[in-house]
Amino acid sequence: MRRILELRQLDANGGVRHDSGDPVVVVGSGLAGLLVALRAAPEGPIVLITKTALGEGNSIYAQGGIAAAIGPEDHIGAHLRDTLAAGAGLCDPGIVAATVAAGPESIAILQALGVPFDRAGGRLALGREGAHSADRIVHAGGDSTGARVIEALQRALRADPRIELREHTRVREILVREGHVRGVVTEGPAGELRSIGARAVVLATGGAGHLFSRTTNPVTATGDGVALAAHAGAAIADLEMVQFHPTALAAGASPLPLISEAVRGEGGYLRDPDGRRFMLDEHPLAELGPRDVVARAVARTALASNGEVTLDLTHLDAESVHRRFPTVSGVCADVGLDLARDLIPVTPAAHYAIGGVLADLSGRTTLLGLYAIGECAATGLHGANRLASNSLLEAAVMAVRCADDLATGSGEWKVCDPVALPSPAMRTMPDSDGRSVPELMWAAMGLEREEDSMRGALATIERRRASAPPATSGELTLAWLSLTAARHRAESRGAHFRHDLPTDRAEWAHRIAWLGGRPYRVATSDHHAHHIALAEEAA
Ligand SMILES: Cc1cc2nc3c(=O)[nH]c(=O)nc-3n(C[C@H](O)[C@H](O)[C@H](O)COP(=O)(O)OP(=O)(O)OC[C@H]3O[C@@H](n4cnc5c(N)ncnc54)[C@H](O)[C@@H]3O)c2cc1C
Repeated sequence: MRRILELRQLDANGGVRHDSGDPVVVVGSGLAGLLVALRAAPEGPIVLITKTALGEGNSIYAQGGIAAAIGPEDHIGAHLRDTLAAGAGLCDPGIVAATVAAGPESIAILQALGVPFDRAGGRLALGREGAHSADRIVHAGGDSTGARVIEALQRALRADPRIELREHTRVREILVREGHVRGVVTEGPAGELRSIGARAVVLATGGAGHLFSRTTNPVTATGDGVALAAHAGAAIADLEMVQFHPTALAAGASPLPLISEAVRGEGGYLRDPDGRRFMLDEHPLAELGPRDVVARAVARTALASNGEVTLDLTHLDAESVHRRFPTVSGVCADVGLDLARDLIPVTPAAHYAIGGVLADLSGRTTLLGLYAIGECAATGLHGANRLASNSLLEAAVMAVRCADDLATGSGEWKVCDPVALPSPAMRTMPDSDGRSVPELMWAAMGLEREEDSMRGALATIERRRASAPPATSGELTLAWLSLTAARHRAESRGAHFRHDLPTDRAEWAHRIAWLGGRPYRVATSDHHAHHIALAEEAA
């Protein structure tokens, strides 16, 4: 570690021109974007920009629900403990404590906006998911929680005249002048470019599953917000941490339908091509082991046998299987399979982006006027591994906090000067690798990584960056940053598994942020003071 990065203290308006007529621009219309727009609307004009139809994004596909410690047998301390345990030593304890404490209030806010959460016995029905020590998953419409949440928020948003909506419009660039975010450049449905001035820009752009050739994420999840923020000079963190789901339906092209953990929870077995229950040898909990352990075992088994891993429910009562899992039964039926009677081919797939734009719980980034909330942000809540159903919680908590911060602009905002990404070195070698970026990333930075293949993929990405047309530069930036981060972390921890360095190491028990292509250690610090301390470390 060499020097402490100089962070400047500014109040939220930063002593720079503040035109109160300028709107707040919100980018994205998942849970995070819709909720921040609704909560911030009373304080001034909002322009909500979203690249497809309103509401399309990861949120609408969420099945399980939202984690909140509201059950009679549950308490905030238990939710905190479970989250820290999943995070494998990288969680920011202050962020975890504040997020889980805000869980019950977040559920109440969503209910007040019309989300019809499922009820049982006169109170909210609570489900249990892997690695939670209590029943604490609030859900709506059974396994259609995301769809019910987004429907309610969309309804509220369309009824609010203070929010100007621009659908099928993509943000292409964040405008920065004198170290302060001033607006965005957008590309409209007919390809027209336009700039919009803004007093603040809130990125709520979701995940990045499509950086990998196998993903459960819808096509919107291309990590745009992270690439936009990196180009604008903001710090990015934890990109080596990608959560892979063990069981996506291995049929057709990405996105691959998710087969939730609950199916294994109900008694489903994973079998290798010879019909063996290989998870019995892998973990004491067999099919119900931790998500990353099961995902790696599925990938390894498929590779070693050069065949298909399947999910087997044929020993269970067919009628109750179909009744219990209507959504999963439906997606299997779409490809000609009967969930209860056939062996269902499964594959791991990129599912959740733990890393993103370095932000505090209000979404403040290291760049004045730029906020990042929801899946595109990296707050330290998830550490090295996300606990199931904590991501919708994070999106809701951050949206509420961000709206409060936009309203009051209170407190000092510690910022770094924007730092440009290094330009790729010009290469004379032609790019002979015919694979797409997602194929390269799946091969080099999928469930198991090692130095040689990551170095090779990075060289290819750098060659392509040197000659990339602007339209593809976001994907290449994200791939470059992710590979750089994964190579830098010389250990295995949580979702980051390197088979050349298969154990964790005490000297790596900290988060790493990247600014202008250089690594910094993220100190856990007082999020109430909007203070994220960074210390440069050896590259
Ligand atoms: C199949 C599936 C099941 C899941 N189940 C659960 C669950 O049960 N519980 C849980 O907690 N989490 C779950 N998750 C994760 C969770 O859904 C996400 O983490 C969360 O919804 C992210 O919300 P968000 O608002 O940050 O992003 P999203 O909901 O992904 O919204 C991002 C928005 O940004 C827009 N956008 C992106 N780039 C641009 C751009 N350049 N310009 C304009 N607009 C842009 C997109 O169009 C989209 O509207 C699941 C995820 C998937 C894929």
